[in-house]
Parts: sequence; structure tokens; C-alpha cells
Amino acid sequence: MNNEVYRFKVGNFECIVVNDGTFAYPQPAQIFFANAPQDRLEQVLGEHSLDPKQWEQYVSPYPSLVINTGHHRVLVDTGAGSMAPTTGKLIPNLHAEGIVPEDIDTVILTHGHPDHIGGNIDSEGKPAFPNARYVMWKDEWDFWASEPDLKELEVDEHIKQLLLTFARNNLPPIQGQLSLVDRETEIVPGIHALAASGHTPGHMAVAISSGREQLLCIADAALHPIHLGQPDWYSVFDLAPEQALASKRRLMDKAAGEKALVFAFHFPFPGLGYIIQKEEGWQWQPIETTG
Ligand SMILES: [Zn+2]
Repeated sequence: MNNEVYRFKVGNFECIVVNDGTFAYPQPAQIFFANAPQDRLEQVLGEHSLDPKQWEQYVSPYPSLVINTGHHRVLVDTGAGSMAPTTGKLIPNLHAEGIVPEDIDTVILTHGHPDHIGGNIDSEGKPAFPNARYVMWKDEWDFWASEPDLKELEVDEHIKQLLLTFARNNLPPIQGQLSLVDRETEIVPGIHALAASGHTPGHMAVAISSGREQLLCIADAALHPIHLGQPDWYSVFDLAPEQALASKRRLMDKAAGEKALVFAFHFPFPGLGYIIQKEEGWQWQPIETTG
């Protein structure tokens, strides 16, 4: 199938998952399942046909979501931009769908990590979406503006520097178009901000509804489908792991209870599926895609 764009509808809203590219995470077991007991990890990976010693990389898509509500053109996250040679394809992929940056009136940033804010600016450092209001959770903006040291994260120093550099370069230029939210509120009609802190201090999920249909964008509340089956496992990127797990539980229970379609950023493209309650956790049921 086409791994760059995927069109679908939520009620009357026309949606497109548009990929910015991919990134290969090395040592995915250690990165994604930081606190998993070794024996249990091997067992669970085996159940997913993965050999812990052979599983050398996880290739994640970096998708943005375009929602045309009829009144607003909304973009959720802006990809990784210049982060890697394999990223930065959002704008050409939007063009191929007949969308130019000027068409977007609202950009929702789920959090301040490089793979979600990388396309905020153009090659001259100006906002890439000149007519858009950029919406972010206030705690998230304040956190990155405070020049954090990220000492909580057990990742290599160069990864911390990557996170800080992207926040430093890609957030201040949008300040003139910024709209901060500090509670669960409607961003545009049919699109709500949901608090989902833990991965980062102001990590935001997005609930989209039109007619009787719902889409829940969970951003990085789960990075891999195995995070659903193992509700207590978290990743090295979660700044406040216990809070992240509580946010994951709340979102998954909501998605399962409401039978909402879910958009999971780092899951295999297009990252759309349903959450089924299973034992202590949940199971990922990707939608059928053709082509
Ligand atoms: Zn991410």
C-alpha cells in the first residue's frame, strides 16, 4: 500500500494521514520497554514473532493528521523536518494531496519532541504554516521554554541535545501565532484537547468527533502495539513514567469504551485501529487497508 498518505472519514470530516518519513530506532526493546523484566520481555516479544536478540530496529512512521472539518483545515503535528535524511517529506506530501501550507488554519502540537515539531518552521526558520494558529498545552510550552536539563531521561547525551536543539529552534519562531491551552477544551468545533501528561509535562491527546463517529489521537501515549498488552511498560522517553501510564490507561479505557477509531503516531502506518480490552490491558486491532 501507499505508505505516504491514507484518506478516511470521521463523520463529515475528511481526514488524511500524511507521512513525514520514517526513522529506524536502534535497540527498540531497550528503548520502548525500559522497565520490562527480561524474562517477561523475551516471552512477550516471542508472542509477537520478535526475537529480542535479533530485533535490531523498529522503523517508525512519522505521520501528521490533516482534518478538514468543512470550516477548518487542521494539522496535528508537523513531522520531524530536518531531523534525519529519511524525514521532512510532509510539505511535498501535502502538495501531492492538493494542500498548500497556507490552507492550514490550525496546527495542533501534541508535544515538543523533534518528531512532532520538526516541520514547524521552513528552511528560513519562519513558521511553515503562515496562516495557522499553533495550539499547544501551556505546561508543554513552559517546560521547553525553561531550558530543562532532562536529567530524568536515561538516554544518551546526544539524544538529549537533539531534543533540546529542536525545542530551541522550532518553538520560539511560532510564538507570534501561538495559542496555549491549559484545560480540556474545544480547539475548533468537533476537535478537543485532552490532557495526557507523563510522556512530557504537557503531552496532549486530541479527540475528534463528527456525527456519531469519533477519532482519538493518542500521540505518544503508546509508542508500540506491545504497550497496549503490557499496561505497566513504559519507554525511556517518558519523563514521568507513572503519570504516562495513568494517561495511557485513561485514553485506552476511553477508546475501548467508546469504540472510537484510534490514531497512534508511532504504530505501523497509517496507525489507525481499534482498542480491544484484553485481560489486564488492551489489544491493538489495526484497520484493514487496501492497495
Ligand atoms: Zn513521538
